Amino acid sequence: MDDLLRLDDRLDADQRLIRDTVRSFVAERVLPHVGDWFEEAVFPARELAPALGSMGLLGMHLQGYGCAGTDATSYGVACRELEAGDSGLRSFVSVQGSLAMYPIWRYGSDEQKEEWLPRMAAGEAIGCFGLTEPDHGSDPSGMRTYAKRDGSDWILNGSKMWITNGSIADVAVVWAQTDEGVRGFVVPTSTPGFSAPEIHKKMSLRASVTSSLYFDDVRLPASAALPGVVGLRGPLSCLSEARFGIVWGVVGAARACLEAAVEYAKTRVQFDKPIGAFQLTQEKLAWMYVGVAQAGLTALHLGQLKDAGKLEPRQISFGKLSNVRAALDIARQARTILGGNGITLEYPVIRHMNNLESVLTYEGTQEVHTLVLGEALTGLPAYR
Ligand SMILES: Cc1cc2nc3c(=O)[nH]c(=O)nc-3n(C[C@H](O)[C@H](O)[C@H](O)COP(=O)(O)OP(=O)(O)OC[C@H]3O[C@@H](n4cnc5c(N)ncnc54)[C@H](O)[C@@H]3O)c2cc1C
Repeated sequence: MDDLLRLDDRLDADQRLIRDTVRSFVAERVLPHVGDWFEEAVFPARELAPALGSMGLLGMHLQGYGCAGTDATSYGVACRELEAGDSGLRSFVSVQGSLAMYPIWRYGSDEQKEEWLPRMAAGEAIGCFGLTEPDHGSDPSGMRTYAKRDGSDWILNGSKMWITNGSIADVAVVWAQTDEGVRGFVVPTSTPGFSAPEIHKKMSLRASVTSSLYFDDVRLPASAALPGVVGLRGPLSCLSEARFGIVWGVVGAARACLEAAVEYAKTRVQFDKPIGAFQLTQEKLAWMYVGVAQAGLTALHLGQLKDAGKLEPRQISFGKLSNVRAALDIARQARTILGGNGITLEYPVIRHMNNLESVLTYEGTQEVHTLVLGEALTGLPAYR
């Protein structure tokens, strides 16, 4: 579709190359199959991960250890193009890079970094991030998963819920209470006492693996703890990284819905005219484009702030809140333009629409990000 506002003129040559490379990958390797993956509730992670790794997309904005070390805007552009394919694909890359690799890279020991990061960057090892629990979602401060010292070892007990990549992961970064406060643990999923059953019957993010994690007296060596952080700021800093990817990613999902709606509107004839020739349809399309472009501008601005080292969590909340809501509105409008065809997986729209319901909820719900902005505006925290 025509980039009416020429927004991508603001990308540099490397960023445009990343855009084109990822867009071609999605067109060739993902779009022909993703409707079936969604219907069958599978995500071929072992097949896709090495390909994503060879393109440098796993932990792409991290330096060293086989990571591509790009700027943040490039990471955002990649997320946008991946999510134009499917939010499940972008989720896989976000979780691997921002939620599993990032804490090891930022807070890990040299030994942990050497052991995991090169293999994760190559897509040979898959990671997951365990923060949410069955009874503690928006408020992780109440988490009950506990790691207790036993000599120099740790014994981990508890459970996590809604964990992306859980059942397919080789390593889990697990956040647990300890006598010293919340700490992160690098847990190989082959450790006795660890189990990760998959969650079924999802109607959203079906082309993505979501699991529970159970820890039953999981014995870990002292070296499993992330040495560089104590307290909730550890997991929250990872979420800031991943939310930045969402700010960009949903622009891709919204664009894909708009493109499908424009194509459909040009060819579907009712009352002897293409439905795109009716003013009501054009009004919908025009506002959908306004939404895609405004969300794209927000993403670009936050990308530039991040590259300048100035991006604050409350600014990421702004982007996550406004862009996901815009994308969901666009997907719903596109759905109406496709009429009955809008509900089938022959077209990408209902898949994106259902996926975006998860994206609205995970990585901080829209209500939580609203409260972050409310606090930023008033100085009055209203979380409890
Ligand atoms: C597909 C999927 C994948 C996920 N992947 C991961 C993952 O990889 N790792 C991980 O750790 N977690 C993951 N999550 C969990 C996700 O982050 C949580 O679902 C989310 O934080 C919300 O928690 P909850 O579902 O327990 O809802 P709750 O916190 O119970 O919220 C329910 C409702 O109450 C609202 N609410 C809560 N508190 C307030 C308040 N103070 N004021 C107003 N409203 C409030 C919420 O906004 C929401 O509307 C995933 C979730 C999904 C659906």
